Amino acid sequence: MDAKSIRRTFLEFFQSKQHAIVPSAPLVIKNDPTLMFTNAGMNQFKDYFLGNKAAEDTRVADTQKCLRVSGKHNDLEEVGIDTYHHTMFEMLGNWSFGDYFKKEAIEWGWELLTEVYKLPKDRLYVTVFEGDEGDGTELDQEAIDIWKGLIDEDRIIPANKKDNFWEMGETGPCGPCSEIHIDLRNDEERAKVDGLSLVNEDHPLVVEIWNLVFMQFNRKADGSLVSLPNKHIDTGMGFERLCMAIQKKESNYDTDVFQPMIQFLAAKSGKAYGEDEKIDIAIRVISDHIRAISFAIADGQLPSNNKAGYVIRRILRRAVRYGYTFLEFNKPFMYELVDILSDQFEETFPEVISQRDFIKKVVMQEEQAFLRTLEKGLSILQKAMDGASDKTIAGKEAFTLYDTFGFPLDLTQLIASENGFTVDTAGFDAAMKEQKDRARAASASEKGDWIDVNDGDSVEFLGYDALESDASILRYREV
Ligand code: ATP
Ligand code: MG
Ligand code: MG
Ligand code: MG
Repeated sequence: MDAKSIRRTFLEFFQSKQHAIVPSAPLVIKNDPTLMFTNAGMNQFKDYFLGNKAAEDTRVADTQKCLRVSGKHNDLEEVGIDTYHHTMFEMLGNWSFGDYFKKEAIEWGWELLTEVYKLPKDRLYVTVFEGDEGDGTELDQEAIDIWKGLIDEDRIIPANKKDNFWEMGETGPCGPCSEIHIDLRNDEERAKVDGLSLVNEDHPLVVEIWNLVFMQFNRKADGSLVSLPNKHIDTGMGFERLCMAIQKKESNYDTDVFQPMIQFLAAKSGKAYGEDEKIDIAIRVISDHIRAISFAIADGQLPSNNKAGYVIRRILRRAVRYGYTFLEFNKPFMYELVDILSDQFEETFPEVISQRDFIKKVVMQEEQAFLRTLEKGLSILQKAMDGASDKTIAGKEAFTLYDTFGFPLDLTQLIASENGFTVDTAGFDAAMKEQKDRARAASASEKGDWIDVNDGDSVEFLGYDALESDASILRYREV
């Protein structure tokens, strides 16, 4: 089954169970100070759970564009190194707002995975919440009893609060969850070690695919839990991981979601994928990051020097440097991948194809700009490492790389760590503060002019941008 059919089948399955199919919310969140990017399917439905709004449809399903590169969920460092965490990924989800509860959520999830997608039952494990004395919560016997009707009892694993109790914040709706994991190892490996012991242990072939959250409590300000009058279901399944499982692959990157880009990069660089780990990581990182960048731009978030825009710029520069160092790309190359993406997502996320040329142009210009300073910056960094006595890059050096050569701090840290070095981040912060203080003092007399035009959020603060004096950085005005 190809990726498109897998996605379509999910939506049709829940449609057949009377769910309304709704569009994905944008990747970039504009009006929530607590969250820059959508990181889970439930984000757009937050108000229904909080009781601030009544849902129009009590059953909905969708595929949600998610990005996990900042805040509570930040998977950036794993991406490309492992084979199943992405920056941008699709989360397939079904919801009940005060409608069905545990029984249907579990039974339908199981039906879809084992009868429709035909995943082998003897490779699946489920976890249930074990309870927590401090909270007064108990083992989720209700979930166990439902699962017992579907799966062998020894495949039901009680798990702790960290993995199996979901809370939106300090207070508010919360509840236990039950996750479905799959063991994709070959028979020989499976005979050696029981898959049960590898669940939630970061094994690349024993991975979590679906999280079913049972929203049944309200956490009050004093920390106590009371039962909610309306119980809700909130589920999230990683689409790329599901494709890996159904297509019997050992990596998300071996599915048809990523293969066209991987093959393109391998051909263009003249390097084989699957022979040298360093090259493989570079190819994976680039084919991952171009998705985050393209979808963010399609949703109106241009690369820039602050907030969400800087997150996107950082991701882009990270990918450009992987290409430059490991694939010997010294000219823009990432923008060419946008064609592959826009064709691939035409049916599901037409915003990419409708803005294809614009996205390509922005990506190409960003690449060009960074490539102008990358080589020089890398040689300065190399000299700093050659001259260091204690495997530390001085904060001042890292700041020069940032300020003059457009190296985001995390990029300098990444390159440093590849060479067994660390960066003095406190020194970096101090150098940054020193420069801002100096600039602020110098421009104090002009301050009145800035305040009139800058409302903080909707317009990029061009004054601050200019102070960063990074010649390589393109400047955009965002409205
Ligand atoms: P993991 O433990 O693997 O990091 P998680 O518990 O953080 O996953 P959830 O918050 O429960 O993930 O999200 C629901 C589903 O989304 C997961 O079961 C998984 O299939 C998928 N998922 C989570 N993070 C990523 C990611 N970075 N890339 C791809 N899929 C992901
Ligand atoms: Mg995670
Ligand atoms: Mg998990
Ligand atoms: Mg989870």
